[in-house]
Formats: sequence, structure tokens, C-alpha cells
Amino acid sequence: MNTRLHNELDLDAYWMPFTANRAFKSEPRLIESASGMMCRTDDGREVLDAISGLWCCNAGHCHPRIAAAIGKQAATLDYATAFQIGHPTVFRLAERIAAMAPDDLDAVFFTNSGSESVDTALKIALAYHQARGESSRTRLVGRERGYHGVGFGGMSVGGIGNNRKSFGPLLPGVLHLPTTYDHGHQAFSRGQPEWGAHLADDLERIVAVNHPSTIAAVIVEPFAGSTGVLVPPVGYLERLREITARYGILLIFDEVITAFGRLGASFAATRFDVVPDLITCAKGITSGTVPMGAVLARESIRATIIDNAPDAIELFHGYTYSGHPLASAAAMATLDVYEDEQLFERAAALAPVFEDALHALADKPHVKDIRNIGLAGAVELEPRAGEPGARAGTAFAEAFERGLLIRTTGDVIALAPPLIATPEHIETIAETLGDVLDGLR
Ligand code: PLP
Repeated sequence: MNTRLHNELDLDAYWMPFTANRAFKSEPRLIESASGMMCRTDDGREVLDAISGLWCCNAGHCHPRIAAAIGKQAATLDYATAFQIGHPTVFRLAERIAAMAPDDLDAVFFTNSGSESVDTALKIALAYHQARGESSRTRLVGRERGYHGVGFGGMSVGGIGNNRKSFGPLLPGVLHLPTTYDHGHQAFSRGQPEWGAHLADDLERIVAVNHPSTIAAVIVEPFAGSTGVLVPPVGYLERLREITARYGILLIFDEVITAFGRLGASFAATRFDVVPDLITCAKGITSGTVPMGAVLARESIRATIIDNAPDAIELFHGYTYSGHPLASAAAMATLDVYEDEQLFERAAALAPVFEDALHALADKPHVKDIRNIGLAGAVELEPRAGEPGARAGTAFAEAFERGLLIRTTGDVIALAPPLIATPEHIETIAETLGDVLDGLR
């Protein structure tokens, strides 16, 4: 595609993240504006967003209330340091998020991204054990096929070989649970698969081999998004909670894509009724408008760390832009929109429509599995022989040409429409994807 802007722009200087740069630059795709469910390319084509930007624009694009709040804040207070000084909006926001959080996860620490939230949560877990005199608890447990961002902590607990292979030994003392996904037992499950709760029991083995007194925390995504919507088997999260509690190990839910409505509730913890000790979030907190993330910790975790350091800085951690005024204002307006437009409820109501539309694609060519939970779903394709990822890559390009934005990882097509989607949008998404699959070789 030779777009108007492509001819006018020099594409060379920008080193694009998680992108095959040469391939992109030989065939660029540019989005110039967006509104609601739609993005508009620089050559004026409308593209229906079936992945909420990148799992983040839950309130749709360019919501006027959020845009206005950001503009107003930028003209009132552009920046205030977060170290030793605050500003009113960030306190209001923290109070509001704490009120939405399950149980006593009432201490809110702000970051600027999911990766920062994950590294922050891991550091809080280590600092907590140290503060309570258990400094031998330094091991962290992640999971195969987990994605926790790209910081050294998140990479280490993450379970994706490609993301780790170029960066040396990473954090020491990290262990991994097995993935929750098993094609043989779970293919074409609607919602949570029945098979697989026992996979959580591997934590018992890890505990036995290493001794509980060395393990600080277990971190998992309630459902793994980035590696292809791997939905937790019925009873799995409950079992992880039970085992971690028994051994004094903190449980961290990485809710960077599940928080703020994706599962029809504020948090996956609420939806699954399993309460971890720490929650990481980002993305939907501002509907993707201004970078922001947060870690929610149990009040008792914060109290332990704070009480251990009277009259001094308790946690030597934070970012120049923690709780940035623009992000805070964007988040406040986003939460207003979620509430006033009842978007979490809408997502819950739309989920069965989404499930049916997705599973209706089961007989399309190359389809190996279809999975879904809430407003997240995946269509996994059989890979082309000797060319892993190529078939889904072609599907991505073809879908974009046909006016549909999807996301692919390996040979998995992921879908996560904004929560403002209507049944008609879901129909269009499924129809277009069906046409794309029909045309794939
Ligand atoms: N954790 C999870 C579960 C994610 O899905 C992501 C991003 O998709 C991250 C962490 C990293 O977030 P960010 O890209 O904002 O650093």
C-alpha cells in the first residue's frame, strides 16, 4: 500500500517496537485519526477496531469527555513532582480505584505502563517479605506463556522464549508454572475449560523443591492475553490462591488487560471471585489515552513496609511521572465514562453474543481452536508447514485491507473489541474475519 503520508514521511528514524521494521517500512500502515469503534487510515479508509488499539481503548477512541478532561488538566496543571509533593487529582483517583478494588487492596501505587506495574509489584513483594523479617523469600514464580511486559522483572517471570532470548540471564531465582493451555483437553471451550485445575498443583512441587521460605510471590495473568487468550480452567485460580495462602506466598494478578471491564467487571479478581494480594493494571485505566499504570496492594502489605521504616522513605521506588496530572485526569474521566455509560455491564451483556459469533467460525479453513472469555477471544490457526506465524500474519494484513484491525501472535488471532461495541459491530467483526479465513491459503 502506498499511502499519502507514506509518500511524504521519512519512515527511517523511528525504530518501531515489537515490529518487523523492514517489512513495515516497505508496506506501511498508518492510522491518522480515530473515533469510537473506528480508526481512519491516512488514505481515508475506515478500519473497525476489534482489539481496542492494543487491549486498551475500552471506552472507544477519542471519547469527548476524556479528551476534554485531558485538555483542561493540561491547561491547569501540566506537571507536579510525585516525590514529597502531590496534586489533588491523583489522590481522588487513588481513592476511587481503591473503592473499586476487591477486598482490602486499597493501597494504590501509580506507574506509567504495564511493564512498570509488574516490576513495581515484584519489588513490593520482595520489600514486604524483607520488612517482615523473611528476607530469604526472594524467588519469584511466573508461568509458561505468561506475558508481563518487557522490564527485566517482567521478562524474567514471563514465559515467552522470543522475549527473553537476547537479554542474558535475567533475574536469578525465577521459576515457572506450566501453561494452563492444553489443546487436546480444551479445544473449542466456551469460556473456562473444564479440564486443567490440577495444573496449579505444580506449585506444590516448586514449593517442595525450593522450600516455602524461599518463595516471595507467584505472578499470573488471570487469563493470558498476549500469548493467545488462554483462559484459566475452572477451579485453577482458586487452587493457586489456596496453595499460595497456605505457604505465605504472595499472589499477584497481572490485570494489565483484564482490569477495567474486559471481563464485564472492574477486575478479573472480582469476576472470578479470587482475590490476590497485589493487582497490576494499566491500559484501560485511561482507556489508552495517556500512559498510566497502577499496582493495588493489600493495606496490610503497605502497612508492613511503612511500619518498618518510621519517619523515612519506606519504599525506594517510583517514577518521575507516577500519578502524572494528565494521566490522572484522563483516568478520572475514563472511570466516569465507564460508570455513566455502564460499560462493564454492557461488556458482560455482549459477551455471549461475542462468544456465539466467534465459535460460529469453527468450520472455517485452517481453524485449530477458538477460545473466549468476556470480551476477549482468539481464533488459532493451523500453521503453514515450515512457516510458523505466516498464516496469521497474512490474516492480519488481509483483515486490515478489508477494514478490520485485529492482533496476531504466532498463529493466533486475538480479538478484544472496545466495550462500547454493539451486536452489529460483533457481527461485522465475525463476518469480515470469516471472509479473511475463507481466502487464506
Ligand atoms: N502485563 C500484561 C498482562 C500485558 O498484557 C502487558 C501488555 O500487553 C504488559 C504487562 C505490559 O504492558 P506495557 O506494554 O504497558 O508495558
